[in-house]
Amino acid sequence: MSFVATAQDGSLLLYNVNIIHVEDGAIQRGAVLIDGNKIKAIGDYQELNHGVAAVNRIDCQGKYLIPGLWDMHVHLEGADLIDDNKLLLPVFLAYGITTIRDCASDLGEQVLAWREEIKAGKLIGPVIFTAGRKLEGKNSIWKGDLEIENVTELNQMLDLLDKYKVDFVKITENTLGGDLFLKSVQAAHARGYKVSGHVPIDLTIGELHRAGYTSVEHASYLMRLGTDEEQIVADLRSGKTTKEHAGARYGAEFNQQAAIEKYAKLGKAGLFVCPTLIGGRQLAYLDETDHSRDPFLSYLTNKFVANYQWRIQRMGVQSPDQIKQRKDRYLQLRSQIPLIQQSGIKIIAGSDAAALNTYVYPAESLIQELEIFQEAGLTPLQILQSATMNGADYFGISDKTSTIAAGKNADLVLLDQNPLENIEAVRKVNSVLTHGKFYNRKALDEMLKVARERKIELDSSRER
Ligand SMILES: [Zn+2]
Repeated sequence: MSFVATAQDGSLLLYNVNIIHVEDGAIQRGAVLIDGNKIKAIGDYQELNHGVAAVNRIDCQGKYLIPGLWDMHVHLEGADLIDDNKLLLPVFLAYGITTIRDCASDLGEQVLAWREEIKAGKLIGPVIFTAGRKLEGKNSIWKGDLEIENVTELNQMLDLLDKYKVDFVKITENTLGGDLFLKSVQAAHARGYKVSGHVPIDLTIGELHRAGYTSVEHASYLMRLGTDEEQIVADLRSGKTTKEHAGARYGAEFNQQAAIEKYAKLGKAGLFVCPTLIGGRQLAYLDETDHSRDPFLSYLTNKFVANYQWRIQRMGVQSPDQIKQRKDRYLQLRSQIPLIQQSGIKIIAGSDAAALNTYVYPAESLIQELEIFQEAGLTPLQILQSATMNGADYFGISDKTSTIAAGKNADLVLLDQNPLENIEAVRKVNSVLTHGKFYNRKALDEMLKVARERKIELDSSRER
């Protein structure tokens, strides 16, 4: 692609650009000098242009430079969807998403291989952080998880994840009981991992955090904080109440003030949460949305989209009452976002895009998630932080990436509009810089075209 300037061929200078400092929302007008995949200096055109070939000086008049976006919750999944997922990797870049956190799947080893290929410049895609495969209990509903039923098996699986060199550990609770779940968190934390996942019905969020939990995936679990969570968990453990009853109490006994107080405690303790609201919204509004003409479907193979049916079927035929309840629950959850933000709990933006998550399109759904945050009342700056520097903060690498400063990784996105005025500006991607390559709009459009063609090719090869 001749229209891709390679920063490694020499330095690249973006000048006349509005640099957005996501730390505080300041906009600095100036020039950014990039050398390979690093930001070398920020300053004036006059002092930085020496030695930069004219073709590598890019006039960014009227444009806004932000750190590349992070989608902190995706699943590249489906043992029979390897090519289908692979074609989407450049699509993330075209959407301005330069980093993704893969929260485990049945393609664990494949995703680890893609992580290395992208790092080595052999494959075009975002930086990948991955959990590989997740810990679960025996006979869970999830495919390809690491199922354990005692501490010996737990340690064996953690040995395996060590060998894989995963970036964090993911744990879910479909069949994994609270006791072994908590031990899993402690053991993974003791090995130095960030630990993320769901919240079992018989553990409190505080307990998990004290055991070393870094983030709760899905804000819906935080709604428990509006109830007497400790009491409900104690009643469960002593056999005074059933799981079904406990679940109902978590729903029915919500008190907003109690929730705010507990959010504050966890905020102070340093918990992260990845809300993933878009999936719930897509399901809640299925009755009034026609998805059949969604433009993103042109990137998804028929085989990929076939997976969408299971959640639709699982919801079954719903009465108007049930449909309304689902919408109410979504809106209540959305209303918690500004309260969570104020509490100091760090929000990491993530979509939960996955073949198994109905109409939660890769890449597109992160942008929709950010738009939901705006509807919920977060400021564009808070939203940008959730999708950039909070991700680096989660992994403890804020000194290396996700803000625009000398010495940081040059994972950058140039926008045609100011995202601090309206977060929808992140849809106006002009160019993307990552892995030492500068992709202008023409290059990004070409990548999208290649992805659409690949989808058609895969579909027709399977019809034969
Ligand atoms: Zn997920």
